[in-house]
Amino acid sequence: MKMNFKNFPMVSKVVFGRGSFTQLVEIISPKRQSDSAPFIFLVDAVFENNTSLISKIPLLYKDQIIFISSKEEPKTLQVDRLVEDIILSSSVLPSGIIGIGGGTLLDLAKAVALMLTNNGLSHEYQGWDLIKNKGIYHVGIPTISGTGAEVSRTTILTGPTMKLGINSDFTPFDQVILDPELTQGVSKEQWFYTGMDCYIHCIESLEGKFINSFSKIYGETALKLCKEVFLDTLSPEESQDKLMMASWHGGMSIAYSQVGVAHALSYGLSFLLGTKHGIGNCIVFDHLFEFYPEGVKLFKQMKAKHNISLPKGICANLTDKQFDIMIDVSLSLEPLWENALGKDWKSKITRSRLKDLYSKM
Ligand code: NAD
Ligand code: ZN
Repeated sequence: MKMNFKNFPMVSKVVFGRGSFTQLVEIISPKRQSDSAPFIFLVDAVFENNTSLISKIPLLYKDQIIFISSKEEPKTLQVDRLVEDIILSSSVLPSGIIGIGGGTLLDLAKAVALMLTNNGLSHEYQGWDLIKNKGIYHVGIPTISGTGAEVSRTTILTGPTMKLGINSDFTPFDQVILDPELTQGVSKEQWFYTGMDCYIHCIESLEGKFINSFSKIYGETALKLCKEVFLDTLSPEESQDKLMMASWHGGMSIAYSQVGVAHALSYGLSFLLGTKHGIGNCIVFDHLFEFYPEGVKLFKQMKAKHNISLPKGICANLTDKQFDIMIDVSLSLEPLWENALGKDWKSKITRSRLKDLYSKM
C-alpha cells in the first residue's frame, strides 16, 4: 500500500521575545539583493500614526511602506493590484515582502510574495499545490495573536467564486518575528475574537477524525494556553506571551489535521456577508453545542468572563438564494466536514440542517 503522509514545510527561521522587533534590521539586511531591489513593508493601517513602531522599520534605498486597512479580509483582486503596483514601481523584483499586522496582513504578504514570481492572477492559484515557483523572501510579524497565519502553509483569499486558500509548499514564511509587545494595543473585543480563532482551531483539531499524535500534542498545548489566557488571571505580559505561543501551536496542530464545522460555516458567512474570520467563528461556534459540547460550554464561560456580546440576527433577513450561497460555500469545504463527521459526512449533514443553523445566527 502506498503511504501518503504529508511532507510539509515549516517556517524557516523564527525569533521570539519581547522587544525582538528591534532586530528587524539585522535580520533582513543580509537578504537585500541589491540597492535597487527594495524591501516592501505591508503594514496594517492601524499603525500609520504609531511612531514607535514605524520608527523601527528601516527604510533604505527604494524600500517602501504600504499601509493597508484590514477592515476587509484579503481579496484576490487586492493582491493582484498590489503586485502590479510593486512591479510598476521597481525595475527589479523586491528583495523581500514583510507583513506586519494580523492574519489579514500576514496573508496579504504571503500572497504578494508568491504572485510576484508566478504568472497570471491570484484566483487561479486558490486551491492546493497550484503554485509553481518559489516566492520572494517573505517575513511575517504578527501584531495580534490567534489565527496561526504566522505558521501556516496557506494564505486565505476571497476570490470571484470562493473564499479559499492558496495552499502550497512555498506559502510559509521564510522568517517570523514573534514579539508579544506588538500586541499591546489590541481592543478587548478583537483580542477575544482572534484569540478564539485559536481556541476553535484546537477544539476542531482535537475533536476531529484526522487527529494524530503530532496534531494532538500541539493542539493540547495550545488549548492549555488558551484556557490560562481566557479563564485565569494573568499579567498582561504573561497573557500576551502565552497567546502568541498558543496561536503558533494551534496553527501547527491544524497543519497536520484540519479544522471543522465552525470554520466550514464561518467561511459561508464571510463569503456572503463579509463577516470577519474571528468574530464569524465566534458567532458560529456559539451554536455548535451538538457538535462540540465541551468546547462550546467552555467558550460560553470565556465569553461571559470577558463580557463579550456577539451580534445576533445577522442572517435574519436573508433570502433563500442567499442561504443557498452560504450553504454551497460551506459544503464545498469537504475536508473540513470529513474531519468533523467522518467519511460518510454527507449522510450526516443536510442543506436544511445547515439552513437551520445559519437561521439561528
Ligand atoms: P485582522 O488582521 O483583520 O486584524 C483585526 C483587527 O485588529 C484589525 O482592525 C487590525 O487593525 C487590528 N489590530 C491588529 N493588530 C493590532 C494592534 N497591535 N493594535 C491595535 N489593533 C490591532 O484579524 P485576524 O483575526 O488576525 O486575522 C483574520 C484574517 O486571518 C482573515 O482574513 C482570515 O481569513 C485569516 N486567517 C488566515 C489563516 C492562515 O492560516 N493563513 C488562519 C486563520 C485566519
Ligand atoms: Zn481560523
